[in-house]
Amino acid sequence: MTQIIDGKQIAAEIKEQIKGEVRKLSEAGGPPGLAAVLVGDNPASVIYVRNKRKACEAVGIYSEEHKLPGTIAQETLIQLIDRLNQDSKIHGILIQLPLPSHIDADRVLYAVNPGKDVDGLHPNNIGRLTMGAPVFVPCTPGGVMAMLDYHKIKIEGSRAVIIGRSNLVGRPVSLLLMHRNATITVCHSRTRDIDAICREGDIVVAAVGKPRFVTGGMIKPGAAVIDVGINRLEDGTLAGDVDFPEVSKKAGWITPVPGGVGPMTIAMLLKNTLESAKRIEERSA
Ligand code: NAP
Repeated sequence: MTQIIDGKQIAAEIKEQIKGEVRKLSEAGGPPGLAAVLVGDNPASVIYVRNKRKACEAVGIYSEEHKLPGTIAQETLIQLIDRLNQDSKIHGILIQLPLPSHIDADRVLYAVNPGKDVDGLHPNNIGRLTMGAPVFVPCTPGGVMAMLDYHKIKIEGSRAVIIGRSNLVGRPVSLLLMHRNATITVCHSRTRDIDAICREGDIVVAAVGKPRFVTGGMIKPGAAVIDVGINRLEDGTLAGDVDFPEVSKKAGWITPVPGGVGPMTIAMLLKNTLESAKRIEERSA
């Protein structure tokens, strides 16, 4: 029988653990702090940042929201990041993507102190992840791994097919799975015969950004299917990259959208902020 991987429930359990640790840290000195930087008024970004702030509040993490106009000069944005890098209340800095087109996103991400880069997007952190010794595991990929582990889904020796190779999701997920001894195949827009490749996957991670891209015919019976996609349909509802009704008839495990990877991403952000605070406090002790 297909098991639904309930990201909301798993995230709630992780947040409960984090809450206890945050309480101890707050009593010992001060709470972990997260600064979110939002440039412009992209509606999805506004909602993401608001949800992250609420999640911080719920576990006792101090949070700051820096809302900047979409016309801001790149150097002004970098000056703010420099201040946050120096701010001892702040242990995590999150730059909400996408940034407006006149801003060089790489340059901005590189300006974040790698020790506070809780999204794991700084090249130092990507390099560490590639070597198999991550400082910060990027939040969404970390959430995918936590879901597999929660259900004790076998990773070592498994065939894992990842659809998508973005810096944010596909590439780091494939590295994490490879470091756990899965045999990985990464598919992208130029991959031929993607259906046949998918059917070989014991684990399939879909991070494409196309609603219902993964169909039942692409899934090996019993496979674990992790749907990272969040796509807003014309009627305003959300759909993942996986055709849930069809695929859930074949998969061994499947994540829903919403309520799957999304809540896990936020839980991992809180976890990274907590870990960063512990590391910084240990260094200054
Ligand atoms: P992205 O940067 O647009 O990357 C999409 C990837 O899919 C690219 O590697 C692209 O290939 C590949 N692709 C596109 N069309 C394809 C096709 N027809 N066949 C095979 N591969 C194809 O997107 P992303 O940032 O990785 O995000 C992917 C999805 O996850 C989006 O829906 C996003 O909203 C969602 N997301 C969710 C969370 C969460 O917390 N749940 C977090 C982040 C992202 P090329 O490289 O060849 O272009």
